[in-house]
Amino acid sequence: MADEPEGNKVDGHHAMHLEAGVALINALTGQHVHGRPKPGLDGDELVRAAAGALGPVDGQVDLAVAERLRIVASRLREIIESLSRRDRDQAAGLLNGMLADSRARPHLHRHGEQSWHLHFHSPDADFVQQWAAGLAVSVAAALGDHIPHRVGLCAAPRCDQVYIDASQAQIKRFCGLACQNRVKAAAYRARRSGS
Ligand SMILES: [Zn+2]
Repeated sequence: MADEPEGNKVDGHHAMHLEAGVALINALTGQHVHGRPKPGLDGDELVRAAAGALGPVDGQVDLAVAERLRIVASRLREIIESLSRRDRDQAAGLLNGMLADSRARPHLHRHGEQSWHLHFHSPDADFVQQWAAGLAVSVAAALGDHIPHRVGLCAAPRCDQVYIDASQAQIKRFCGLACQNRVKAAAYRARRSGS
């Protein structure tokens, strides 16, 4: 079906969108991952990466769509980077721009006899606008809520992956164990050579 995926698998639309947004940002943008340079993507690789980040999309991602998704991902990255610098004013301004450009417009929708559910994009939005609107609304909801740092930027050197912090204490700093261990090992080496 050519429609936005349903959000009840995780815990609602917003969580699903945040996960998809993080997957898109990490798949399509960034210069480094886990201490290594990240090769730029184009052509079929770009299409595969974009489609893979969004999950089952039934061949709706061609090269033109993938290029537009990469722009959406870059805008999201800029927002997450503003948040990680605690520049919430800039993040809010960027998000408002994304909400306007994607023509986000909440409306209730139902497929056939299914129950009504909320869509965030306008009824005539194309595939990329649907995703851009959904992603922008969900990041805006997270920013306007009590969890401004729930999405963060890996603090390890030479890694600019984005992560979701699901911990109660909100203390996550790295994209994963690879970077956490890398930083620990470097600190250990520094201590040894210093003593
Ligand atoms: Zn990392």
